[in-house]
Amino acid sequence: MKIETKALHEGYSPKNGEPRVMPIYQSTTYVYDSTDAVADVFDDPTLGMIYSRFENPTTDAVEKKIAALEGGVAAMCTSSGQAASLLSILNICDAGDHFISSSSIYGGTVNLFAFTLKKLGIECTFIDVDASEDEIRAAIKPNTKCIFGETIANPALTVLDIEKWARVAHEADLPLIVDNTFATPILCRPIEWGADIVIHSTSKYMDGHAVQVGGVIVDSGKFDWASSGKFKGLSEPDESYHGIVYTDKYPDAPYITKARMQLMRDFGCYPAANSSFLLNLGLETLAVRMPKYCENAMKVAEFLESCDKVKSIKYAGLKSDPHYELAQKYLPDGVCGVISFSVDGGRETAVKFMDALSLASNEVHVADIRTCVLNPASATHRQLTEEQLVAAGIDPAMIRLSVGLENVEDILEDLQQAFDAI
Ligand SMILES: *Cc1c(COP(=O)(O)O)cnc(C)c1O
Repeated sequence: MKIETKALHEGYSPKNGEPRVMPIYQSTTYVYDSTDAVADVFDDPTLGMIYSRFENPTTDAVEKKIAALEGGVAAMCTSSGQAASLLSILNICDAGDHFISSSSIYGGTVNLFAFTLKKLGIECTFIDVDASEDEIRAAIKPNTKCIFGETIANPALTVLDIEKWARVAHEADLPLIVDNTFATPILCRPIEWGADIVIHSTSKYMDGHAVQVGGVIVDSGKFDWASSGKFKGLSEPDESYHGIVYTDKYPDAPYITKARMQLMRDFGCYPAANSSFLLNLGLETLAVRMPKYCENAMKVAEFLESCDKVKSIKYAGLKSDPHYELAQKYLPDGVCGVISFSVDGGRETAVKFMDALSLASNEVHVADIRTCVLNPASATHRQLTEEQLVAAGIDPAMIRLSVGLENVEDILEDLQQAFDAI
């Protein structure tokens, strides 16, 4: 099946007389005929559902669909994108371990990696997204367990050279984890370029309608966890699960099986069935929506580039953008709907511009079906002083514009009248 067809049909195939749409299985638990039957699923949880803290039929259908869209072998949904980032690392890093991340990643992920994981004894080295192979290689230590990056970074909008980062990771027997939230599998499938694990905030384009917060981790099934001896949590007995060796018992998808049976069992950050149902509705139209976001954003980016009140613009679909070549390689069908730009005149002018918008709404969200804007300096990075903002690479006048699916003429007209007002 082609990807548009997969988005509609993967994960759920009703049989004779069954509901056309995947039902919401609003049940915490599952019934078995006997105590022995329950014991059997505890011995091999892949035989049946146990408890909705870590598995549920509605969510299972969505997991199968996302795994198919990304070209992975299995997936596990989480209750937020943050939970997906956290578990993707904790599944292979223990206290005393180290990992490497591109510094061009989502701000929430920076906090998680730089502060919260540090408190748990896991150290992260941040490296420039455009670092050379030697620079990435030089950051690898004996206790390094993985490398992390974002296909299109939120909000820096840089493009990750996935093949390069994967090559350096694999040379050192390390997996590459890629956050593919902004690209979605419609525009880029990182596994095809060498990524081993793909994660998403499904709260963004995948849902698209701003109705559920969620995340997902996808296992490519390609990484050899056993041979290097670095990943003992996967290749040696798990004493918390009566001695299971994940790489032996579940050779197809040991990473995701461990994440579910160990981490999700213990942390329980699993989505509610109702959220998964809503996410599935978004996924069904993802392949239709993504090209339209890209088409609208390209027109808006060209308009902004030609506007004399715009000081700078970041959109890798523009030929003038430093990441244009990488975008051509990894995102030939479009570079998503998010654009960052700065207006001439500083933060006050940016705020005045945003308040003059009438169609685009002011909100802490991105990748919605409706156009929205955010001034990071006034919102997500509000605690920082002007000096700290500059140090963090955030222009106080920077506006993150998430172009929606309205008629682009209406979006452009709204932007024009707001420019006229400043
Ligand atoms: C929003 C976002 C996250 C965090 O996801 P939540 O669903 O908000 O927890 C992670 N990565 C990227 C790229 C994001 O845009």
